[in-house]
Amino acid sequence: MIIDAHIHCSGRRKDDMLRPYAKLNGLRYDLEELLERMESNGVGRGLLLSPPMAGGEPLPNSEVVRLCERSGDALFPVFTVEPEKGAVKEALRLAGKHRGSVKAFKVWLGYRKVFARDEVFAPLYDYAEEHDLPVLFHTGDTATSTGSLTHAHPLTLDEVANERDGLKIVVCHMGNPWILDTAELLYKHPNVFADISGLMVGGGGYSEEYARTLARRISEAVYYAGGAEKIVFGTDYPVETHESGLSLVSLLAVSQLDKERILWRNASRLYSI
Ligand SMILES: [Zn+2]
Repeated sequence: MIIDAHIHCSGRRKDDMLRPYAKLNGLRYDLEELLERMESNGVGRGLLLSPPMAGGEPLPNSEVVRLCERSGDALFPVFTVEPEKGAVKEALRLAGKHRGSVKAFKVWLGYRKVFARDEVFAPLYDYAEEHDLPVLFHTGDTATSTGSLTHAHPLTLDEVANERDGLKIVVCHMGNPWILDTAELLYKHPNVFADISGLMVGGGGYSEEYARTLARRISEAVYYAGGAEKIVFGTDYPVETHESGLSLVSLLAVSQLDKERILWRNASRLYSI
């Protein structure tokens, strides 16, 4: 049973900023469609993260919980944590209330121009370590041209990984295009993981060549890190469809066992789902 470790959905909200991606991919982009598509693609479980809404705020974490509750045990919440003292406190309060069901936290870096090492996140990391909950970081390309790549570069996570070897860090989107930098983090730090979500975006010229390039780079990262024990599958739905995400995995030049690790074994262990 495949696990999609990176999904967004707001229900049917019109002010969801990921709607243009849904349109591009021909998706209706609501909970019912998501669950149908998961089922038809053999995806049994998934992690649900806030999408950005008009105005730039993430969908409230309480809404993410509500959507997961409607999913019939298919979706588990990940709480997005804004770089503000009150927001960190509130996210941790809500995590305490939903202990057992919340599976991780998510931090936006380049969209908020904040470094992962910022002191504001110290209580979050303490809590995450204590409760063995991974923290996902958006890394690599930002979807908007105003995002900060300086803050979103995967190597900015090295410092946090050095200081907190008990914190499970997930490098989202494999740090694309800095996939080899992410491979170094995977190799160097036992506590660093990565997801391959949201990489198969758009169409246009060279899309087949691009898919092959991505597959080669991810495969090279596996060779460099010496295995695929810490790489997890995700779609970033609606940014990527399940079909195209799974086709990327099929293109990887790694063993069948490593594909299984990527598709579900690693996520099952990492997120206890
Ligand atoms: Zn995402």
